[in-house]
Amino acid sequence: MNCLSQLLQLLLLVVALLRPASEECNIVRRGLSRDLLLIGTVLTNEGALQDSTVFVQSGRIAHVGDICGLGMRGGDASVLNCTGSVISPGFINTHEHIEFSTVSPFPDIGERVRHRHDWRLGARNYTMREVSVNGSSVDATAWGELRHLFSGTTSIVGGNMVPGLARNLDFPDGLEDGLDARVVINDIFPLKDKLGAMRNGDCDYGPDPIDQDTAIGYHRYIGHIGEGVDVEAANEFICLSNATFDTTPAVGGGGLSTDIIAPNVALVHALGLTPGDFDIVAVRGAKIVWSPRSNIHLYGTTLNVSYLLEAGITVALGTDWLPSGSATMGREAICAASAADEIFGVKIPPKVLWEMATVNAAMVAGFEDQLGSLETGKVADIVVFEGKSGKDGERDISIVDPFEQAVFASQEEIELVLRGGKPLLVSPRIKDLASGTCELVAFGDSNKIVCIADELGSLFKELEASLRGVYPAVLPELPPDEPTCKPKA
Ligand SMILES: [Zn+2]
Repeated sequence: MNCLSQLLQLLLLVVALLRPASEECNIVRRGLSRDLLLIGTVLTNEGALQDSTVFVQSGRIAHVGDICGLGMRGGDASVLNCTGSVISPGFINTHEHIEFSTVSPFPDIGERVRHRHDWRLGARNYTMREVSVNGSSVDATAWGELRHLFSGTTSIVGGNMVPGLARNLDFPDGLEDGLDARVVINDIFPLKDKLGAMRNGDCDYGPDPIDQDTAIGYHRYIGHIGEGVDVEAANEFICLSNATFDTTPAVGGGGLSTDIIAPNVALVHALGLTPGDFDIVAVRGAKIVWSPRSNIHLYGTTLNVSYLLEAGITVALGTDWLPSGSATMGREAICAASAADEIFGVKIPPKVLWEMATVNAAMVAGFEDQLGSLETGKVADIVVFEGKSGKDGERDISIVDPFEQAVFASQEEIELVLRGGKPLLVSPRIKDLASGTCELVAFGDSNKIVCIADELGSLFKELEASLRGVYPAVLPELPPDEPTCKPKA
């Protein structure tokens, strides 16, 4: 063992820790390599490790935990003292429709519907909610990826992609940084009911619905199932979980029930499912993607997620889309906490919400061996959230749960976003970490340096100017016209 090297590291740590714990990171040493040693509160699945370290080498996590375990590595790394901050894996958003990222939220017309076709198509005399993409689909997708990246999300399952920026886990071409490619199928209409078929008692939707043989062949299959609060929404789950429910083919194709509920399947929304249905989901090891804001804005309620958690179901959070969902994962987590409390009287611990945005999301997308937690060998998708101090109204925010500090953070509180070890956003105090073409962008009262132009093909400000006043990607405070998270009484 090279004791000298280790002693040097320890000395650096002591120097870093002797400084008063700042709310923000500072660079203790600028190294010659691109390797990075982060010192601070490290969020892991086992808990928050105070005064701990994460060592990033060649874009991967090479060490997590006590600095003594680093050995002789890291001699030429830059050292970042973030002792007042928390170091988290980047968030993974498992439910987006990213190309609608330039559309403003639906105005609240006071109408809560019972099934997705009610608002999509104006079925059953409900109001049809029209959506169209502002600007090109490519620009809108890039815009959405930037908004999520600026709020700590480094991977998205979003139905569309642009190269670079956030990882797109449903596109082999959108994975970035040499991630092992695998097929994640993101299906909005598993039963091929896009034209509005709503059934009760049979499975006569459209031709060529998903079937068991096909679903089994996918690494991961993430499907919108049971989006609604009526029997027609519940019927969708029966048609996909019980092969003997409907054995009579429909004229024109389809019409047969199947059983796809298995560990490689995640159900998006699942709002129509009964407790008995969730018991089946639990027994089969299938997973749930929870989008509480969109559920509440459209249907007035959301899942009793504590029932799912107690049943042992892996639950991940997803923002859905701008028209009815959250603009950021942080806003989705805040809605998740308040909805569980208001509707079901359940307080979900911040760590559980953080897991829904990180490790559970990686499991839903089938990338848990590469993403979603700070562990040796995983890709260095890392976000640092700054500390808080003082009082916010009556609440003393200097004593805050480190998981809360991450999962409820606003964009302003993000100090560093690394994707595969590459800094895409840094706060001005650590500007020496920035590389490539970077620009200063105002996030409310604080500035950030964003280094995305090389991947985007233009400066952020140029894209912003070309999109002329669409829904912002920088949301320092409450997102404007945010869809309600207030449940229907
Ligand atoms: Zn959706």
